[in-house]
Amino acid sequence: MSNKGITSRSESYSQWYLDIIDRAQLAENSSVRGCMVIKPYGYAIWENIQRELDLRIKEMGVSNAYFPLFIPKSFLSKEASHVKGFAKECAIVTHYRLKETKDGMGVEVDPEAKLEDELIVRPTSETIMYDTFSRWIESWRDLPLKINQWANIVRWERRTRLFLRTTEFLWQEGHTVHESHEESKKQVIEALEMYKRFAREVLALEMYGGKKSESEKFAGAVDTYGVEALMQDGKALQFGTSHDLGQNFAKVFNIKYINKNGELEYPWQTSWGVSTRMMGAIVMSHSDDLGLVLPPIIAPIKVVIIPIYKEGNKDKVMEFVKDVESKLSTVVDRVHLDERDFVSVGFKFNEWEKKGVPVRIEIGERDLEKKMVTIVRRDTNEKEEISVNSIGNDIKIILDNIQSELLKRSQKILEEGTTQVSSYKEFKDILKGKKGFLKAYWCGSKECEDAIKYETKATNRCFSKTGKGNCIYCGKESDKEWVFAMCY
Ligand SMILES: [Zn+2]
Repeated sequence: MSNKGITSRSESYSQWYLDIIDRAQLAENSSVRGCMVIKPYGYAIWENIQRELDLRIKEMGVSNAYFPLFIPKSFLSKEASHVKGFAKECAIVTHYRLKETKDGMGVEVDPEAKLEDELIVRPTSETIMYDTFSRWIESWRDLPLKINQWANIVRWERRTRLFLRTTEFLWQEGHTVHESHEESKKQVIEALEMYKRFAREVLALEMYGGKKSESEKFAGAVDTYGVEALMQDGKALQFGTSHDLGQNFAKVFNIKYINKNGELEYPWQTSWGVSTRMMGAIVMSHSDDLGLVLPPIIAPIKVVIIPIYKEGNKDKVMEFVKDVESKLSTVVDRVHLDERDFVSVGFKFNEWEKKGVPVRIEIGERDLEKKMVTIVRRDTNEKEEISVNSIGNDIKIILDNIQSELLKRSQKILEEGTTQVSSYKEFKDILKGKKGFLKAYWCGSKECEDAIKYETKATNRCFSKTGKGNCIYCGKESDKEWVFAMCY
């Protein structure tokens, strides 16, 4: 237990982020470089995210399954651009045994236990799944096939940051197979829209979502769509993607089906996923200088009750507190009564504030006769007194209000953080100052995109809309507006 403070956002945004993760006890670095330990409180948030997301995935007619952690190296290289995209960050298993060193003091790799077909620790599961799908799919009757996997993923990152970029992370990956491109394209958008709804309804996050440019798309995809939220420091964070894989993988993994006319055809595929990166997005978008702020739907504890008593009147206060707790628990779930005797009330206030518990209830002796309690909202830090008689419904309304206010706040941040720009000078000036999302026309050439990235560090995040304008870099006429930002 510690009661260390939190660096303010104005002092150092990146240290503030790490402080929140530490003080709220979400995660920590492990002895394995780049790999994090997700602590119980952080994992409880992830479990709530998982449950809400899993419901929505299943509503799309998708079933969960599990595939191997290891992928034969030869599988990964079947799709040329896919292997190119992941080659630089692969963990490879080359041996399967250790032996004692000559001096008997330790162990070393047994050179005789070399794998003939080396294995990759999955950086994503397209290849291992589609090899399997080629045996599952024979006719149009087997389609559409819709599978989701909850799993861990390994990508050997050089620079890591808790939740945002870690060598190992957790995610869900959906993979579907369809009879026509029209149908698979519909699935790509359905998954994208599901993520958007999920972000708004559950994470209270507003975002941009749309097609990615050629250079930003997934390795092996025909098209990639992404969802991008804006963090408080003006940088964007991509927290989900949905890919139209066309027939690219079907062709190399020999997935074929007999269509309704009796002809053999390649099917059309999609894949889509979100990861523990979302945890970073939640921390960075809602929290303040006092600590974490959580949308109630994903909070491991929605309401914490803190009894306040002096020596001698504990029994009397606790009797009232338990009564309040039971009244509340019939209407609101995840209520926690902090009965610890070995820490001060002040310590408790501070700790739950840092952990982002949406509502705190303080109950002292003077509240007994009035039948009133003091509540504090974490999102606004406002205090108010409410009657015990209607406490369940009142708290429920407050929790719903916190959830919707956080979304409104996120919508405002996005709105105010988006600037329509028509000159490159303005574009650069904004990136030097408040940053945020920049909506600008771009001609579609890789040269312009690369130059913008090199000169400003801003990248093309996603497509915005069709219209009429001039490329922000070369000035050529363009009918497509895009969203640019510096990103995590
Ligand atoms: Zn251009």
